Amino acid sequence: MTDKYAVIGNPIAHSKSPQIHKMFAEQTGQDISYEAILAPLDGFAATVKLLQSEGYKGCNITVPFKFEAFKLSTQLSHQADIAQSVNTLKLNFDSDVIFGDNTDGTGLVNDFRFNLGVTLNNARVLLMGAGGAASGIVQPLGQQGAIITIANRTADKARVLASTPPFIKPNPQYDSARKNYTGSLRGCGYDELTNQQFDVVINATSTGLSDEMPPLPPGIFAPGALAYDLMYGRETPFMKFALAQGVSKDRITDGLGMLVEQAAESFFIWRGVRPKTTPVIAALRNQQ
Ligand code: NDP
Repeated sequence: MTDKYAVIGNPIAHSKSPQIHKMFAEQTGQDISYEAILAPLDGFAATVKLLQSEGYKGCNITVPFKFEAFKLSTQLSHQADIAQSVNTLKLNFDSDVIFGDNTDGTGLVNDFRFNLGVTLNNARVLLMGAGGAASGIVQPLGQQGAIITIANRTADKARVLASTPPFIKPNPQYDSARKNYTGSLRGCGYDELTNQQFDVVINATSTGLSDEMPPLPPGIFAPGALAYDLMYGRETPFMKFALAQGVSKDRITDGLGMLVEQAAESFFIWRGVRPKTTPVIAALRNQQ
């Protein structure tokens, strides 16, 4: 019997997740369906409960429901617990157990490591934003040994995120990467970034959606820096800014690789099979 999965968000029409999971299913021979579901802004929990009662096996959660998904989960992965944000739910028809995980951070780190060849150990990383996406990626970046500065429009949110207690709990998976770890974490406002340089600058704000630019000072990119926007499918003002600031074109990237990598982690959680991501990223890039 075909197992049913979905992505829930608002808006949701733009989502590439159904296409990605269809490609994963074809590649691995898994018999699943996967659809995009628009939940009313005040009806996220009811939507999940309905899907659960209809026998859905799991769902991905996107903007703006990741914090609500965290609260709805009755069991959490370590990663979701730290992030206080959930993008993957595993559902059971026979019980009320809702397992919540967060694959965003692993997705980003896997994109850095396996697709972009970026070493994060001791890299100076600027993470812009302190919302659902940023909180999911801080810990996995830290586990890679990055020296992280979180900057946010509401500076206090960046400071709170930077002081999350279980930060950089050792993860055996990354022990070799952390041998020479001297990483650190701090949160601040954009006005505190003047005269600083970073090796990796990540835009995890939602500014790309509204064609805005986070208020970055000039000169923020170190020589050879990588500029990474989590937004995908278009050239954002941040990506244009990076180019104008002298970042080379092949060091400026959108979040398509992360999208596919986080989806692969979700697929693995649900199906126990890890799909290949390279052909899926290539197929989606060809459509752009
Ligand atoms: P949230 O709404 O939770 O957070 C938005 C963040 O953007 C906040 O930190 C907010 O700051 C900041 N922000 C909004 N407008 C501005 C502005 N004009 N100037 C500066 N900062 C601003 O969103 P998410 O964290 O869930 O998502 C962020 C982005 O990441 C989205 O574009 C989403 O599509 C993308 N994403 C991509 C993924 C991928 O796989 N590629 C996965 C997950 C997310 P403040 O706190 O001050 O309001």
